Amino acid sequence: MKIVHVGEPVLRQKAQPLAAAEISSNSTRKLIERMRETMRDAPGVGLAAPQIGVSLQIAVIEDLAEYHKDASREKLAERERKAVPFHVIINPKIRKTSPQKVEFYEGCLSLPGFSAMVPRAHHVSVECLDEHGKPKVIEASGWYARILQHEIDHLLGTLYIDRMNSRSFSSLDNFSRHWKDKSIKEARAALRLI
Ligand code: ZN
Repeated sequence: MKIVHVGEPVLRQKAQPLAAAEISSNSTRKLIERMRETMRDAPGVGLAAPQIGVSLQIAVIEDLAEYHKDASREKLAERERKAVPFHVIINPKIRKTSPQKVEFYEGCLSLPGFSAMVPRAHHVSVECLDEHGKPKVIEASGWYARILQHEIDHLLGTLYIDRMNSRSFSSLDNFSRHWKDKSIKEARAALRLI
């Protein structure tokens, strides 16, 4: 599936929640399958249905260990990034967020070629349904909490550029050249954010 890019109106709409009957339908099963393939092809750690032009409250998430192989142990530890198996969230609601915010660079498949520092809650509690319509509560912290907040934002028509520290906005080339190996503290100082 083609991933739609920033400027496409569907990325700014509030996606429709799914009714119980829709969740178990063949078309939803197929949509989830296509979303999983599209996320893996990209590759990305999350994909929301609006990103393939479908205004429904569904997102898929998967953070494979193989995506971490180029990152240092320190970097993974600092981000609290661990592998997250494939799963589907439907009609998600963030019920609780920790007051503690953490700031890291993140990107989005709908804004290819860019990255920016985005403050996010360190911990979230999310209520949602799985692909079988079964209610579940997800308690997440660190990078997984960031992925959840990013994907749930998509379902509400919000993009990371709405929350980013705009002085940190960078092309991916320049991110690799100037910011990737800096700590957030060093990056903030270089960007004159302190
Ligand atoms: Zn995104």
